[in-house]
Amino acid sequence: MKALQFEARPARYAAAAAAGRLTPGAGAKVGPLRLRDLDPPELPGPDWVVIRPRLAGICGSDLSTIDGHASRYFEPIVSFPFVPGHEVVADRTGSDGSDRVVVEPVLGCVTRGIDPPCAACGRGDLGNCEHIAFGALAPGLQSGFCHDTGGGWSTLMVAHPSQLHPVPASMSDEAAVMVEPTACAVHAALTAGIREGDSVVVLGTGTLGLLVTAALRHFTPAGSILAVAKHPTQRELARALGADLLAEPDEVLRAVRRLTGTMALGDGRITRLTGGADHVIDCVGSAASLADALAAVRPKGRVTLVGMPGHVHVDLTGLWQREIVLAGAYAYGTEELPSGERRRTFDLAFELVRAADLGRLVSATYPLARYQDAIAHAASAGRRGAVKIAFDLRNEKERTRL
Ligand SMILES: [Zn+2]
Ligand SMILES: [Zn+2]
Repeated sequence: MKALQFEARPARYAAAAAAGRLTPGAGAKVGPLRLRDLDPPELPGPDWVVIRPRLAGICGSDLSTIDGHASRYFEPIVSFPFVPGHEVVADRTGSDGSDRVVVEPVLGCVTRGIDPPCAACGRGDLGNCEHIAFGALAPGLQSGFCHDTGGGWSTLMVAHPSQLHPVPASMSDEAAVMVEPTACAVHAALTAGIREGDSVVVLGTGTLGLLVTAALRHFTPAGSILAVAKHPTQRELARALGADLLAEPDEVLRAVRRLTGTMALGDGRITRLTGGADHVIDCVGSAASLADALAAVRPKGRVTLVGMPGHVHVDLTGLWQREIVLAGAYAYGTEELPSGERRRTFDLAFELVRAADLGRLVSATYPLARYQDAIAHAASAGRRGAVKIAFDLRNEKERTRL
């Protein structure tokens, strides 16, 4: 089978990190990612099935890994070499496109054959599984970071049936490949505890920020949503998906001041607000975005960190003095809706992809052989007027053989 493989090669990480600092995405040229002919992964257990990816998206976390920015935190919870790709719509074996599935990639207790499951899996909070390095599989928090499962950037991978969600015949592959990132956004929006009329600032309007905006509007009783967008296409899409107000990154505090009527500190240029928004959802995860988030939220407000951060230097004095809550939002599992109803995040994501027509966010697709172009496009998507970039496996000739 044909696959992009990420190897444990420290010398290449260093080269990737150096290249990625100069040009985002350039790590694909010098880093540990290679196009290979591989033996298919063995089925890790009797229930497991072979699936053939159709489309597989490129996520911000993939780009960080390729450019060597990912934190060493991940070392014990991934297994090398691995095939990336956790945003996957695929065919079940032998099917002709009529039995399509979306992969829920988290490798929790059920996929690892661990019974009874940990408390988190028992509650349905798969993203919080305590056993992602144990059981019948090599360590790996998700398919696409685990040696044993393969990943979506290939013509074949294996999956546990509990990971597979059927795709309705009326849904395009482009819409279906948006379900996994949409599930991340739905979880972030619902885990933030937004109450009727709360003001919400969304920092970053790449794929994640746009999907969070759509999820806030569809599933929460948020009042005004202010989206912070750098590029014209992002602004248009953010408005179409539910943002009431838009701001450039260097105007965040001014816009929050207008939105909330708070007082400002600073001579001429606003350096601090005395109040702020009820919620900030940080979809970037950089030192600059976290500093903005802490400056834009009101005392006792909540910052939800959805973008993958890594090492960041940030002044927490404001968090302390203003009693701000800073919380992470990772992956998905089961959500509680404002009505009190509990639903699988993936079911909600399917609903949102359809309702908000999120398949339109897939801007370009590439064959595996053009992976360097694909990664470069994904790394500069906003500037190039694009959102989600994906690999298209549907025409790879290896797809029809093992
Ligand atoms: Zn992702
Ligand atoms: Zn578990």
